[in-house]
Amino acid sequence: MDISEIIIAGDTPGIEWRLPVFRFKGRSAAAPKTYIQAALHANELPGTALAHFLLQRLQQADKDGGILGDITIVPQANPIGTAQSHFGELQGRFDLGSRTNFNRDFPLISLTDRDTLIDDLDRHSATDRLKRQLLHMALGADLMLDLHCDDEALQYAYIDDAFWPEAGDLASALDMEAVFLSDGESSAFEEAVAYAWKYETGQKKARLPGRLSVTVELRGTRDVYPELARKDAEGVFRFLVARGVVAGDEEPIAPFAGIVAPLDNIEMIRAPEAGAILFHRDIGETVKAGDLLATILTRPGRADGALEVRAPQDGLIVTRVSTRLARRRSDLMKIACAAPSGAGRKPGPLEA
Ligand SMILES: [Zn+2]
Repeated sequence: MDISEIIIAGDTPGIEWRLPVFRFKGRSAAAPKTYIQAALHANELPGTALAHFLLQRLQQADKDGGILGDITIVPQANPIGTAQSHFGELQGRFDLGSRTNFNRDFPLISLTDRDTLIDDLDRHSATDRLKRQLLHMALGADLMLDLHCDDEALQYAYIDDAFWPEAGDLASALDMEAVFLSDGESSAFEEAVAYAWKYETGQKKARLPGRLSVTVELRGTRDVYPELARKDAEGVFRFLVARGVVAGDEEPIAPFAGIVAPLDNIEMIRAPEAGAILFHRDIGETVKAGDLLATILTRPGRADGALEVRAPQDGLIVTRVSTRLARRRSDLMKIACAAPSGAGRKPGPLEA
């Protein structure tokens, strides 16, 4: 295992960021190359914990001569966001300087232009340098896992339908409860990687066998525990064995048995007005159309001071916000359903 650091110059004098990168050299040139990063949204740490245990497991495999394909792991991909702690709260999702989501606005380029990402980096801000370095590493791989988490959530993933159903092995190995099939219409990291691969084929809706680029949502922000992280690391290890990246005699992975829903079938439950949120239902629960999900106390103490929010159709509650104050139109839940939402949806990601 080789450990190095990418150094990113800050935008003000005296500042620089250090990004540790762990690399394993595979002994088979034909085996898939893998890139895994965690905590691109800096406050999402279940993936960092996963990476810690996965690195231990891979070091053992390395000693046993079991690493077949090159593996690169960045356990904490966003030192800039990690430092954005203000008034006791970490703001790890948006870059404070540009107000840009750290997981949006990745350059959409072809694979042949990969090296231009790190040409002349002096022309770019620290955050853009970071994004370009990360994407450059990922575009050297065939399999890319971007490890995130939601607010309160089940284990699920966003997977471009170019990779489905082959990616069912990852979903099953990680014990996911749902897969959201995305449409390739955003500039998130996962989609920038898939964009470069699709560009090679000349087809926007190409299938990409043997490759995978995925955003894994490792439950909620507070779900950072040693047992969960070890179990998740074991899941990723089994996936790497199944894809021939690591040698092993793990049991074959069972077919994925969870819910598979295109983004159009995700009901984004929103607060109709501002107020305190009283949730009646939790993640992991199956609801029927018309079930009471939450009461919003819009004018506490008054006879007409509470609003009910009900399920628009049957489905599985996959995520829920942790805040208990709703703003008008703020998200409350994501419910995975069998039929498209009547609310309509613009192409691209579900959330800003
Ligand atoms: Zn995230």
